[in-house]
Amino acid sequence: MSRCFPEGFYKAIFEGCSDAIYVLEPQTSRVLDANTCAWQDLGMSREQLLQHSVISLQQGVENEEHWAQIAELIYAARPQAFTFIGRHYHQHGTYFPVEVYTSVIEFEGQELFLSIARNLDRTSSQREAFRTRDARLTYALNEAADGMWDWNTITDEVFFSPQLKHLLGYLPDEMEPNVKTWVEAVHDTDRERVMGVLKAHVEGQTDRYEAEYQLRKRDGGYIWVRDRGRVCQRDADGNALRVVGMCHDITRSKQLEEMLRSQASYDHLTGLLNRRAGYIHFSKQLSYAQRYHQELTICLIDLDHFKNINDSFGHLVGDAVLKHFVSLMNGTLRRSDSLMRWGGEEFLLLLPNTDINSAVRLISQLKKELKRYPAILEQEVCEIAYTFSAGISCYPSHSPTLDGLIKCADDALYLAKGDGRDLIMISPPADI
Ligand code: GH3
Ligand code: MG
Ligand code: MG
Repeated sequence: MSRCFPEGFYKAIFEGCSDAIYVLEPQTSRVLDANTCAWQDLGMSREQLLQHSVISLQQGVENEEHWAQIAELIYAARPQAFTFIGRHYHQHGTYFPVEVYTSVIEFEGQELFLSIARNLDRTSSQREAFRTRDARLTYALNEAADGMWDWNTITDEVFFSPQLKHLLGYLPDEMEPNVKTWVEAVHDTDRERVMGVLKAHVEGQTDRYEAEYQLRKRDGGYIWVRDRGRVCQRDADGNALRVVGMCHDITRSKQLEEMLRSQASYDHLTGLLNRRAGYIHFSKQLSYAQRYHQELTICLIDLDHFKNINDSFGHLVGDAVLKHFVSLMNGTLRRSDSLMRWGGEEFLLLLPNTDINSAVRLISQLKKELKRYPAILEQEVCEIAYTFSAGISCYPSHSPTLDGLIKCADDALYLAKGDGRDLIMISPPADI
């Protein structure tokens, strides 16, 4: 025969429960009620706790919009509880790991959320400690990284930690827990390399798996991660059974690296390759021409009387003229051609697979363009007409080497300047 307990009995169970219990308002996530364990875990008084919501208590739940998405998942999980492994803030500014089960309850015609949060830092018995060991391990690994994964190679199931999901912009219940999800999220340009590194480790050829690559986020953007993992279980034949790994978000350092590389290679004013990087590019183009027995014509270009422009209109106008020149050139050159900023108002143009006559035609065309479209500055009130001189040399006829070709083009340019400027000279000097 069942015994009928007085109302106070249920209240005693509620207060006496060794896990934190919260009653939440689904729309706002506000805490409507909570038991003693809840406010004690958070280092607050009951009154203080009733001022809070999930948004202010749970790390990773950022705003109302984010909460609305989670609330939807809680409703969708009915009649099961929605599970979440996360962190709760303590009043002192620290936080602790929790495993939260949230279900929908109905009371007097109103739907409410009932959350039971187990503090994973608290171990009340050996049995409890054992039960939560895996969760603690997961938590510890998570703390050491921005997220972790645990791959069962037999079933191909992968546990992606909530932090890893959060890093990629997913909610805790999203991301299919399998290898395919991860493989598809790895950037196309990285996939083959990363798979190769992972395979080598799983097959026992390397001590551990480590790779840097780009991972796709929920919104389609990418982050850079450093991913490290290790087989932690093998069968008697040495086949990998379980691989566990940690991901670090290295997007910021990659961006910085890229910015520094770009600053080191590109000219800030014009966006062209600078002389240092231009040299490397040139030598690659020359090797290509040598290997495939192609001609490679180069052209050194120097703006005429540029100092006068600076002196008459100022340095900023001089800068604008340099930019004007580059944009005019970029609009006329072919995709295979490359223009580099060789010095102040000096440029090197590489024309792969191009003979001298074609090069001269192209440069003459550029000269005509420049005459038709002079630089127009200062809100279209000032037109600055300028010209350039060019010296041309060609691989293999003028020299087989990079420095030799540059010297020939430079000598030809010098002659163009000497002969009155606004000229194209071919090495050995020959007027056109
Ligand atoms: P030439 O026809 O003999 O080439 O005469 P030039 O005046 O063009 O040559 P010169 O070498 O005497 O002067 C080049 C000038 O270009 C001097 C330098 O201050 C200017 N210059 C170099 N780099 C920049 C730049 O980035 N911006 C501006 N505004 N001027 C620059
Ligand atoms: Mg000049
Ligand atoms: Mg010069």
